[in-house]
Amino acid sequence: MDPRSTLPSIDKLLRQTEAQELIVRHGRDNVVGMLRNLLQDRRQAAGRGDAAAGQGVLEECADRLAARASPSLRPVLNLTGTVNHTNLGRALLSRRAADAAFQAMISATNLEYDLDRGTRGNRDSHVEALICRLTGAEAATVVNNNAAAVMLMLNTLAAGREVVVSRGELVEIGGAFRVPDVMSGAGCRLHEVGTTNRTHLRDFANAVNEDTAALMKVHASNYSIQGFTSEVPQADLAALARRHGIPFLIDLGSGSLIDLDAFGLPPEPTARQAIRDGADAVTFSGDKLLGGPQCGIIAGSRALVDRMRANPLKRALRVDKIILAALAETLQSHDDPQRARAEIPTLRLLTRPRDEIRALAQRLCPQVQTALSGLANVQVIDCSSQIGSGAQPVDLLPSAGLAFAETGAVSVSRIAQAFRDLPLPVIGRVHKGQYLLDLRCLEDEAPFLSQLDRLDLAGANREGR
Ligand SMILES: *Cc1c(COP(=O)(O)O)cnc(C)c1O
Repeated sequence: MDPRSTLPSIDKLLRQTEAQELIVRHGRDNVVGMLRNLLQDRRQAAGRGDAAAGQGVLEECADRLAARASPSLRPVLNLTGTVNHTNLGRALLSRRAADAAFQAMISATNLEYDLDRGTRGNRDSHVEALICRLTGAEAATVVNNNAAAVMLMLNTLAAGREVVVSRGELVEIGGAFRVPDVMSGAGCRLHEVGTTNRTHLRDFANAVNEDTAALMKVHASNYSIQGFTSEVPQADLAALARRHGIPFLIDLGSGSLIDLDAFGLPPEPTARQAIRDGADAVTFSGDKLLGGPQCGIIAGSRALVDRMRANPLKRALRVDKIILAALAETLQSHDDPQRARAEIPTLRLLTRPRDEIRALAQRLCPQVQTALSGLANVQVIDCSSQIGSGAQPVDLLPSAGLAFAETGAVSVSRIAQAFRDLPLPVIGRVHKGQYLLDLRCLEDEAPFLSQLDRLDLAGANREGR
């Protein structure tokens, strides 16, 4: 007998209750299409002599349809120890920012509508006054991210002309943001001055010519130059730019809006200080230290910001109502530093004391040990977290976590895989040959604990995947 004749027909499969349930959930066309594909595979398997080719067709169909219908982008637990992890989506929004974003999503809004006059309005108006209050700038605008902010600023103010930058600041931020490439992408020419470790005011002064459009400073962000170094104070660069009638621009990167030293964190340049030092325009990210949605903020003089707003690129790079709603609430939280720390997850997590994190680790450790079924050992250790996203790479934050040592039974990479395979994937890091879960960013332990019984260190559930 031809083994292919043992395969069920589509019609027969569709008459079964399980198939009817799948049709309710996924729609008839999807179920029929999937069954057709599956039966084709099974027919080949049968042709190769697989006697079981006709079995479990509906079950596999259900699994495949469920996998296809589940979202690709989903929540994970960031226990890497890097608070602002770009690969894990950076800042978590505050509750009030998330609520505002949700409202903006499901309702019409006055996004570009002036409610007083009943006429067309400007979308920046919902955040401009807030940004100005927090930075001391005259005007502000918002675009898709800080890379876009730098692009818009340079394209508007310096297309076809030169921008002077120190060699020590020609950095690569990651994800293809390299200062020289951004310059050429924006249509301007980079005029590098100084050396990697030392740049002086005279280097800038000698570089200025009739083709110079601006002086620029870029926050080195993700690396630091130590030892015999020298950089030009912002105020001196601002004065030099003013003498030549050209703008002084700063890409702050993270650009905090509040003084982080007050919280015992490593200092980051604030936008307010940059404006006070005489910068004509500064740019910074919305989802780094600000702890808001992904966006890029430009704050500066009214004349320059107006020119940027009139650039067609602004239209291409603008943010939507969801982002603006979340950003406005994030900025409101910054009105008072203590409130900012209480409401904004990024600031709360960055300032979480080690004692509290260690106490959490000690509480969780016995339950985690049980879940390991004797295949591995876990212990509480002190470790160091990072701010992330290029803020202060050298300064580490004292933290604590759970360290898993490799045993003959399981490797570190197998442990890491088992945690990633959980329904709410847990992402840790490998540190000194151990698998480490830094608990700084675990504020709610319940979802972590409730899935531990599904930890599959032996990899049994992966077989045949
Ligand atoms: C992070 C960073 C950028 C890019 O900002 P995004 O918001 O990621 O686009 C640009 N410049 C500096 C100095 C940075 O640190």
